[in-house]
Amino acid sequence: MTVIGISANWDMKSGRLNIPRDYVDAVLQAGALPVLLPATENEDQLRAMIDLVGGMIFPGGEDLDPSLFGEEVHPKCGEIVPARDSLELKLFALLMEAKKPYLAICRGIQMVNVALKGTLYQDLEAQYGSDINHARFDAGADIIHHVSVESGSLMAALTGGGSLPVNSRHHQAIKGLATALKASAWAEDGLIEAVEHRDGYPGLGIQWHPENLAKKDPRMQALFDWLVREAARQA
Ligand code: MN
Repeated sequence: MTVIGISANWDMKSGRLNIPRDYVDAVLQAGALPVLLPATENEDQLRAMIDLVGGMIFPGGEDLDPSLFGEEVHPKCGEIVPARDSLELKLFALLMEAKKPYLAICRGIQMVNVALKGTLYQDLEAQYGSDINHARFDAGADIIHHVSVESGSLMAALTGGGSLPVNSRHHQAIKGLATALKASAWAEDGLIEAVEHRDGYPGLGIQWHPENLAKKDPRMQALFDWLVREAARQA
């Protein structure tokens, strides 16, 4: 059976590694086996993880360390966990080396953009300014805004394109897009909400949380189904 690795969330307060159930359910629904990947800095163990999986999900979580993209920490930057940054950047590099597919969600799209030498808004309210409040952490899976999908993109092929209703629980986002990436969806205020690779590498970055919408919106489940199809080709 196709295995999808999910990089664990680090709850520094409780000392637990965890993952919101919706990620797990979306992978199960797509017919694959989700496996939570633990925290380690051991290179052999990291390689074993990448050998084990057909593809990866990099999920939501804490803010990336701004020093990774050459900035001082803004006062509105949230909690940073440098050890998690380091782990995920290594995992991402090993995954790319192995040419395996990924979905990078929320923190994940930000991590991928930084890994490929892009930059982030550390706090949208302070640094971007918009009529949309993207930081609706109180609103769960509720639809907060729409994104318009670039026609001809992978995102359009998977979702049918056009305008997609999405949730929004992020206070950071892509500022300088990495040159290896292209935007494939934007919010109404111009903010990049999805990316893919210019060279066709099988990776998708998504700023909203499709895992929370997948049970009700088949266009969101389709993103997980795509990951599993791509991962199955690795076997
Ligand atoms: Mn948003």
